[in-house]
Formats: sequence, C-alpha cells, structure tokens
Amino acid sequence: MVCRLISGPEVSEEIYGELRTRIEKLKSEGFVPGLAVVLVGEDPASQVYVRMKGKKCEELGMHSETIVMPADITEEELLKKIDDLNKDASIHGFLVQLPLPKHIDEDKVIEAIDPMKDVDGFHPVNVGRMLIGKPGFLPATPAGVQQMLIRSGIETAGKHVVVVGRSNIVGKPMAALMIQRGLGADSTVSIVHSKTANLAEITKQADILIVAIGKPRFITGDMVKDGAVVIDVGTNRIDDPTHPKGSRLVGDVDFENVKDKTAAITPVPGGVGPMTICMLMANAVQAAENFKNLL
Ligand code: NDP
Repeated sequence: MVCRLISGPEVSEEIYGELRTRIEKLKSEGFVPGLAVVLVGEDPASQVYVRMKGKKCEELGMHSETIVMPADITEEELLKKIDDLNKDASIHGFLVQLPLPKHIDEDKVIEAIDPMKDVDGFHPVNVGRMLIGKPGFLPATPAGVQQMLIRSGIETAGKHVVVVGRSNIVGKPMAALMIQRGLGADSTVSIVHSKTANLAEITKQADILIVAIGKPRFITGDMVKDGAVVIDVGTNRIDDPTHPKGSRLVGDVDFENVKDKTAAITPVPGGVGPMTICMLMANAVQAAENFKNLL
C-alpha cells in the first residue's frame, strides 16, 4: 500500500494564509483582532504553549496580551481578571491556559468566560452549540483534525470513524464533529476508551481511525484495517539515548508498524501538533469578525 503522509505544517500554513487575508480586511476596517492568554503559575509546558500563542499572534499581526498570575492567586482574583477581559473591547477572544493549580475550580473559571470570547471552545454554551450543529467556537484540536481531513481530500461521508479516547478536549468533541451533517463529517462514529471490551476488534473496523489517548505507540498494525486513514493526536515524550536531547516525541500510533497498511497517516511530530494553535488563531479571528458584525 502506498501510504500518504498528511502534513500538519502544510495544512496549517494554508489556513494561516487565509487568516492573514481576513486579518488584513479587519485591519482595513479599523479592527485589530485581539487575543489574550492568561497563565496561572509557572508550569513549564504551559509557559511554552503560551509563548507559542503570543508569537503566532505577532507573526499574524494580531494584538496579543499575556497575563501572568502567580500560582497562589485566589479563585476570586482570577475570576475578577476574567470579568475584566470579558469587558475589554480590545480583546475579542481569550483563554485561560489549563491546567490550573488545584485550589482553583477549572469548571467555574471556564464558565466565567463570555462564550462570545471563549476561543478555546470549552464553555458549555459552545460545547452545546457544537453538539447541535450551530455556529460557535470549536475546540481547536478536533477542529484541526477535521480540517486536515477536509483539506487532504479525505472522504468522511458514510465512513466509519473510530475515535480512541473520550476526553472533553479531544475525543468527545472529535466524535461530535464527525457526526454532524456536512463537509468533513456525515460519518458513522464509534468511540472507544479504557473500559472498552475488545478494543482492537472495533479499531480494525475503522475507515478513519483517530487516536487521542496519551499512550506511546499503543496502536499497532494488527489493530488497523488495510487502507485506513490514521490520525494520531498523541504527543508523548519517550527516552531515547540515541537522540541529542536524550528523548523524542512519539504518537499514540506505532508509526513504523502501521504506516504501510494505511492509505494516509499523520506523523508525530509533523502531524496534528501545529493544528491546535492554528485553529485557536482561526477562532480568534472569527471572534473579532463576530464583534465587528455586532456593531
Ligand atoms: P486525556 O488523558 O484527557 O484522555 C485520554 C483518553 O484516552 C481517556 O478517555 C482514556 O480513557 C483514554 N485511554 C487511556 N488509555 C487507554 C487505553 N489503554 N485504551 C483506550 N483508551 C485509553 O488525554 P487528551 O485527550 O487530553 O490527550 C490525548 C493525547 O493527545 C495526549 O498524548 C496529548 O498530549 C495529545 N494532545 C495533542 C494535542 C496536539 O497535538 N495539538 C492537543 C491535545 C492533546 P478513560 O476516559 O476511560 O480514562
């Protein structure tokens, strides 16, 4: 089987090209799209993600604010900051980087964000709108996977999509997107998770297998149907003494073992990874356009 690689950098660059045009149009009408990111504490991975988001905003010519708050901030202080951002006319979308310190209730924080500015798409209003197929902000990673399928010309209508993993930020919204009517959807969807019996029997039925579990190289060739499309969301750092850094990134799919069975597959790195920030930027631009259209 000749397997095709689906490249996240390529698909995301195509989308960034479209976003640049939309940003220029907004700017010519006097609106500079503004995205704020709130970071609580000093979690190194979160610091990296927040820096990447700010840098991408700058590259695209968007207004960007990073608000860093100490790890011992009270829930009330964080909620007050969210209230300020909800009211700030220069900020069209914002997010609070997760995870938060244990003493802060994440649900309460997410629910305090104005759904019109909730560019992460985690507010229950946006989750509900996604489920009933209404416009709203889609969570970035599953929306990015859907864009990869659409832009790679992969037919999804009538196909059996098996989603491995049922998290609120990837697995569940991924399944919800694929069962909607329309382009890049219209699929028959199964979701499997850690309590699923005979998981491989179900993954083997997938025309499109989307894996998001956080278990390095969990999906092996015997779990995949010949000619399937495999999308690997997993990002796992494993020890590798042969690598200059002593470690490297691998997906949830055993790429070398699986790729020759597939019609198309996403590598790790170089696959889904860059799509998340790309779709966040798309949501931020959408937020600014929505704001302008309300005036
Ligand atoms: P979570 O840990 O929140 O969820 C993992 C899911 O996988 C759970 O539903 C769990 O099932 C399921 N699971 C765990 N082990 C197994 C197993 N052995 N068999 C079947 N199902 C299993 O992870 P996320 O959804 O947040 O992330 C998943 C992966 O995707 C991670 O590697 C993460 O780093 C990556 N990721 C990558 C992104 C990107 O590239 N841009 C963005 C977001 C995530 P149960 O519910 O039963 O416990």
